[in-house]
Amino acid sequence: MKIFINQVPSEGLLLEEEIKPAELDLETELIKFRSALKIKAFVSRAINAIIVELDMQALLSAPCSRCLEEFQWQFNKNTRLSYTFDSSTSFIDLNPDIREEVMLDYPIKPLCGPDCKGLCVKCGKNKNEGGCNCGST
Ligand SMILES: [Zn+2]
Ligand SMILES: [Zn+2]
Repeated sequence: MKIFINQVPSEGLLLEEEIKPAELDLETELIKFRSALKIKAFVSRAINAIIVELDMQALLSAPCSRCLEEFQWQFNKNTRLSYTFDSSTSFIDLNPDIREEVMLDYPIKPLCGPDCKGLCVKCGKNKNEGGCNCGST
């Protein structure tokens, strides 16, 4: 998402964009996107700065770190960025900051639910689906 400074009126400007995750290299070995990254940005102007109120949304998925089942969750983050500029600046590219803001919120150990029971250490059965018959309790 780019902001052209001379296109920002004094009352501000609402920009919306859907960014493909590949454009920002957002996916990792674990975290995958199940939708585009939806960005809403309210852009306003201060004397030598551009203020951006960002709203980011996407449907993400990852394997649970305990039971290894793939699960999805809705990512939603609001943040505020500001950029100073001088007369030589014609536009501001938000993409590096958008990328960083999204990736900062990736879970280190994704969990399908707070009480995921994980896998049986003995037979490997997913204990969320019921007990196993391997004798381990
Ligand atoms: Zn799990
Ligand atoms: Zn078992």
